[in-house]
Amino acid sequence: MSGKNSGALKNAGIVAAALSAVALLVWSWNSNMVQAPVQIGYYCLSCKKTDHISVYQANWRQYPGAMSDSVLYCVHCNKGPAHPTNDCEKCGSVFILHAYPDMRLAYDESGSPACPKCKPELGQAANAKGINLMPKALNP
Ligand SMILES: [Zn+2]
Ligand SMILES: [Zn+2]
Repeated sequence: MSGKNSGALKNAGIVAAALSAVALLVWSWNSNMVQAPVQIGYYCLSCKKTDHISVYQANWRQYPGAMSDSVLYCVHCNKGPAHPTNDCEKCGSVFILHAYPDMRLAYDESGSPACPKCKPELGQAANAKGINLMPKALNP
């Protein structure tokens, strides 16, 4: 291999590296831009407001006597409880966690949090106790 050819190869490598760096930059910029209006976040049972988890992370105050230490005081009304939310991998419904009417209904067969739509007995048991696990604010 002559010195001239290896120099050209080296240049091509630099150009490729620069291009992939630009591609990465564009990709990360795009992924920051594309955000769904409702994300995994928190839902307050008192004021019915939802917010992204980062807002709660900055103001983490555990709600006493809750089923989980991830149930918090609400950042909006200071009451709460504000519950973390989850979205169902099967049907896409967004529902609140740690508000189970019955712990035996809390998880599905695979061990993930049960969806009140895919597991209607959970939704019905919650409704009977006046808990709406799938608030409209989370499922527009
Ligand atoms: Zn609230
Ligand atoms: Zn579901």
